[in-house]
Amino acid sequence: MSNKAPSTLALVRRHNLNLKKSLGQNLLIDSTHLARIAGAADLETTDTVLEIGPGLGALTYHLAERAGRVIAVELDQRLVPILRAEFAGQPHVSFVHGDILQVSPAELTRMQGPVQPGTASAAEPYKVVGNLPYYITSAVLRHVLESLPPPTLAVLLVQEEVARRMVAQSGAMSLLAVSVQFYARPRALHKIPAGAFLPRPKVDSRVVRLDVRAQPAVPEVEPARFFKIVRAGFGQRRKQLRNSLSAGLSCTKEQADYWLASSGIEPRRRAETLSLQEWGLLTRTVYGTV
Ligand code: SAM
Repeated sequence: MSNKAPSTLALVRRHNLNLKKSLGQNLLIDSTHLARIAGAADLETTDTVLEIGPGLGALTYHLAERAGRVIAVELDQRLVPILRAEFAGQPHVSFVHGDILQVSPAELTRMQGPVQPGTASAAEPYKVVGNLPYYITSAVLRHVLESLPPPTLAVLLVQEEVARRMVAQSGAMSLLAVSVQFYARPRALHKIPAGAFLPRPKVDSRVVRLDVRAQPAVPEVEPARFFKIVRAGFGQRRKQLRNSLSAGLSCTKEQADYWLASSGIEPRRRAETLSLQEWGLLTRTVYGTV
C-alpha cells in the first residue's frame, strides 16, 4: 500500500514483466509529462474519471491526486493485481479488468464504488483520460464519444499525426476529423517525444483535449444518417464527391449531382473540403428533410 507514485521501471523489474507490443504497452515514464496530462483535464475533487489503459498506474497516480474517483479499465490481466496492490491505500481508485471497447463508459462510471467523503457521487458526469494504445485510437474515440451519456471532457494521448488530423479544418478534413468534431471541440496540446516512453515508440505523441459538446455540431440531423453520408463521401477519398457518393450510396452520378447541387455544393468538390454544416445540409437533402 502506498500513496507514492509507483515507479514503472521498478514494477517492471519486480514483476519480471515483458511489456506487450500487441497491447500497445508503451508506458509513459516522464513524471512532468504525466502531470501535464492530468492537469489538462482540469480535475476537481468532485470529478469522476474513467482512465483507459492504466498500464502500471503512472498516470493513474496523478489522476488519483486530483479527482474524487478514478475507475481504470485495463485489458492486461497480469497488471490488474499489481495495480490493486499499489493503490490499496486509495479507496477512491478502482481497477476493472476488461476491454474498453466491450464495456459502456457511462455504465462503468455508474458502478458503485468508494468515493472520497463529500465528493463525486455515482450519478455525476465523468471525464475520460488515457494514454491510448495507438491501434485502437479511432475505435476508442467513437466508442467514448457515442457513449450515452458521453463524458464532458476527454484528455487523450495519441500519435502526433492523429492529433493533427483530429483538429484539421475544411480542406484537410477526414472521416476522423468529422467524427470527432461532430461531438466535440478538439484542441491539440503539448507534444510528448518518443524518448519519454518505455519502450520508445517509433513516433512522437501529442496530448489532445476534447471538450464534448452539449449537443452535436449539426443537431438537426440523425447521427446514423449523417455518418452514412459522410462515410460514403470519404469512401473514395481522392475522388470528386459525385463519384464517391454514387459508389457509396449505390446511386447514379446524376442523382448524386442533384443532391449536391440542391445542397449548394459543387459536385466536383472532394470530401476533405466540406464543413460539418455542409455535410449536414447534404444529409438533410438526401433524406428529404429540408
Ligand atoms: N497509462 C499507462 C501509461 O501512460 O504509461 C499505460 C499506457 S499504454 C500506451 C496502453 C495501456 O492500455 C496498456 O496498459 C494496455 O495493456 C492497455 N490496453 C490495450 N488495449 C486495451 C483495451 N482494449 N482496453 C483497455 N486497456 C487496453
